[in-house]
Amino acid sequence: MKITILGSGSAYGTPMVFNDWGNANSKNPKNKRMRASILLEDNNQKILVDAGPDFRQQINTFGVEDINAVFLTHGHYDHIAGIPELPRASKLLQHKIKIYASEETMLEIKNCYGYLFKGGEAESIGLDWEKLPNEGKIDIFGLNFEVFQVPHHKLKSSAFRYKNFAYITDWQDISENSLAQLNGTDILLAECNNGFSMEKNGHSNWPEIAERLKNTYIKQIVLGHLSARVDYESFKNKLPLNVIPAYDGMILEL
Ligand SMILES: [Zn+2]
Ligand SMILES: [Zn+2]
Repeated sequence: MKITILGSGSAYGTPMVFNDWGNANSKNPKNKRMRASILLEDNNQKILVDAGPDFRQQINTFGVEDINAVFLTHGHYDHIAGIPELPRASKLLQHKIKIYASEETMLEIKNCYGYLFKGGEAESIGLDWEKLPNEGKIDIFGLNFEVFQVPHHKLKSSAFRYKNFAYITDWQDISENSLAQLNGTDILLAECNNGFSMEKNGHSNWPEIAERLKNTYIKQIVLGHLSARVDYESFKNKLPLNVIPAYDGMILEL
């Protein structure tokens, strides 16, 4: 399995608009972050996780040549704003793209991009919508995902375990049942928007994540969805050895 981190940034990216780098050193290319998204490849299948506002740039920058399915975690714009570009992507690929979203995420998408669904157009434009269960197993092109949800603001984010890899973005907490899904994974890629800042904003910081995971065995933790308040080098230096910050273009082989 190969995971490519297409975007390691928070909702506002780094630098934010007006070239505001926050605490991040503008000279370090690892601080240049597009919005959170990954490409999971296994068994010749390519699953894109989230399609945010940087979708086109990410696909082009990292030379992605195909997408079989898109797994959407939740309905915030930094995870779904690339959806209106998917019909064109499907046309260029000359095959349909399956989009997996929970019922709640689906409602948010319909609120944001209602025109895509008018008059059954959604089907005719190359997108097949599939309902993601809130919890349980789902087969995506022969890959067996175990899905669970984590609380985030007033929404729930869909997270998953696939083989020895787990992905959680946009979380402020986790249930005991979901924690059990993480036990024994080789890599957990988790949102750590706030770095070491304890601000309460529906996101996570490292001290809280460490506390949540203290009784869970995970070989390596990679922290993503990093905001501009996080500087790559200084953040990395304060983390335990098996915990590393993500950066755009980082590849994880499992
Ligand atoms: Zn987000
Ligand atoms: Zn969010």
